[in-house]
Amino acid sequence: MPSEIDIVPAVTTRREEAQGFFEGLVSKSLGWARKNSLWQYPFVTACCGMEYMSVASARYDIARFGAEVPRFSPRQADLLLVVGTINCKQGPVLKRIYEQMAEPKWVIAFGVCASSGGFYDNYATVQGIDRLVPVDVYIPGCPPRPEQVLDGLILLQKKVQAQQHKLIDRVPALAAGK
Ligand code: SF4
Repeated sequence: MPSEIDIVPAVTTRREEAQGFFEGLVSKSLGWARKNSLWQYPFVTACCGMEYMSVASARYDIARFGAEVPRFSPRQADLLLVVGTINCKQGPVLKRIYEQMAEPKWVIAFGVCASSGGFYDNYATVQGIDRLVPVDVYIPGCPPRPEQVLDGLILLQKKVQAQQHKLIDRVPALAAGK
C-alpha cells in the first residue's frame, strides 16, 4: 500500500493547476471574443436569400449579435452561412470555399434545402450540405423565420464560447532546442 506522500505529486499538481487556471481564462476570453465577432460568408443560392436579407436588415438586425459583417472573400470569414439549395454541380465550389476559410471556422445550414435537400429529393440536389462540409447548426424551415435564424446564431455562439483551447507546453521543446 503506497503512503499518501507517494501518490500526491505536489509540484506537478501545482503546475497543472496553474495551467488549468490559465487555460480556462484563455479559453473563456477567446470564446467570448470569437462569439461576438463572427464574420460571415453568405453562400446564397436560392429563395432563402430573402430571409437572409431580412435578418441582416433593420428590423431583425443581426448586428446586435456581432455578426453583421458579410465577407465575400472566404479568407476573411469564419462563419459559412449556406443559404438555399445546393445542387451537385455547386458541391465542389462550396467545398473549396470552406477549405479556403480561416481557422477556426463554423458552418450554419440555413433552411431545409441546405440541411437535408428539402423537398428536392432528386438526383441533382445535394441531400444536405453535411455530405460536403461539417455543419455546426441546422436551421429548419422553408424558409426559416428570421427569429429562427437568430436562435440558430445564439446556439452557435454558445458552442463557440464553450470551445476549449489547450495551452501548448513549450518547455520540453525549448529544452530540446526546437
Ligand atoms: S428551404 Fe425553402 S425557401 Fe429555402 S431555398 Fe429551399 S425551397 Fe427556398
